[in-house]
Amino acid sequence: MTKLAIPSPVITTIPVHGSEEVFPVRRVYCIGRNYADHVIEMGNDPKESPIFFQKNTDNVDTSGKFPYPPQSNDVHHELELVMALKSGGSNISEADAYKHIYGFAVGLDMTRRDLQAAAKKGGKPWEVGKAFERSAPMGTLTKIEESGNMDSGKITLTVNGDVKQDGDLNQIIWKIPRMIAHLSTFYDITAGDIIMTGTPAGVGPVVKGDKLVGTIDKLNPLEVIVV
Ligand code: MN
Repeated sequence: MTKLAIPSPVITTIPVHGSEEVFPVRRVYCIGRNYADHVIEMGNDPKESPIFFQKNTDNVDTSGKFPYPPQSNDVHHELELVMALKSGGSNISEADAYKHIYGFAVGLDMTRRDLQAAAKKGGKPWEVGKAFERSAPMGTLTKIEESGNMDSGKITLTVNGDVKQDGDLNQIIWKIPRMIAHLSTFYDITAGDIIMTGTPAGVGPVVKGDKLVGTIDKLNPLEVIVV
């Protein structure tokens, strides 16, 4: 057996609702600009295609706590439907896309908006704005057999009880089959990959002490305290 030079890094996992099993995460793909009203609030053109980026696997966090990150004074919440894949491939057809889905969860694409804005302005990569420690708080996964296809349903975020984001999954521009098919033209998507599917309008800043509650019809809610 191969002898490791240092202890193996810990595998990132997401609990599965109603099961003792946990879902091991391989990659975290994210889609930006996938709800027209959010595209407009960010000053972009909803006729342009959504964009794709990644977070680091170990940015996924199910602790219910979000430590306010360093190097930023403008950290925003983005509530998102998350899909988890049980299989994959390349050049997957839209007709086959649903066969690869294991389940869904409620997630937050926490964003250092000031760093993202500076990167955009300078034509630089976004990673420092998006892929930082514990930047992807996530609730438990619900298997697709229980949730159904999640093509519609309310998606709502409250901060300290006030509704900040309130949309419907039917507003998504690139639907679930198209997201999977498109990603699979660029990458060999694989079991363990998760896809964060974009956020509706109403993104905004958080401060320490805030309580964020994200709900999506048919899924377990996500509660996160900013610490
Ligand atoms: Mn996002």
